[in-house]
Amino acid sequence: MLFVDRGGIRSGESEPFGARGFQRQLLTWHGHHAADFPWRRTNDPWLVLATEILLRRTRANAVATVWEEFRARFPSPSTVVQAPHELRKLLWPLGLRWRVDNLVLLARHLVDHYGGAVPLEREALLKLPGVGNYVADAVRAFALGERALLVDSNTARIASRIFGVPCTWSSLRSPRARDLVGRLSPTAPPTPRMNLALIDLGRTVCLPGRPICDICPVRCYCSQGAGKLSS
Ligand code: SF4
Repeated sequence: MLFVDRGGIRSGESEPFGARGFQRQLLTWHGHHAADFPWRRTNDPWLVLATEILLRRTRANAVATVWEEFRARFPSPSTVVQAPHELRKLLWPLGLRWRVDNLVLLARHLVDHYGGAVPLEREALLKLPGVGNYVADAVRAFALGERALLVDSNTARIASRIFGVPCTWSSLRSPRARDLVGRLSPTAPPTPRMNLALIDLGRTVCLPGRPICDICPVRCYCSQGAGKLSS
């Protein structure tokens, strides 16, 4: 399989494809279409961590309807531990029920073991209840501004379509999925800005059911877009 970079870079299956040009076009688009979710304006580790838990398998727009209230009422793990019923009341109407138990457990663990702070070392994050690779890396990316390879349904879907390789929920954790998503970025791992751009592309253009390829800023790089650059 061969991919061609409009910027002139050619590469084969095992090397980055035209990632520089891909990133350039994606970031230019994102400069005009970035979502303005309130959680993107904070780097508070607790809020970043709690938001990632809330966003799991939930539309960002739904989380946005309760997020400001969440921030005001539950600005720290100890506030969750003190009022789990209030948290349940806030999140219940959104169908975020199982997230409540996750958050309460997590908050209690942070209070008991870290004095209510969020540890920022990756290994420590991974030991927190309910925290896996994606959440740990997202916290480091959005709380610390670190580069991170974020593989979720959005980024994996984009990569699978770009490269014409099927990807399912069950394969999201596979090294192959990480490899494909990683190839989208010229830096390894991707910058926080690149991650946000991919997330927004997947949320608004490269939709799960029917991608809107006509308005896609990277369609000339995509096996399903107009360019048809792979063979
Ligand atoms: S061209 Fe279509 S399938 Fe490819 S990345 Fe863009 S929206 Fe997704």
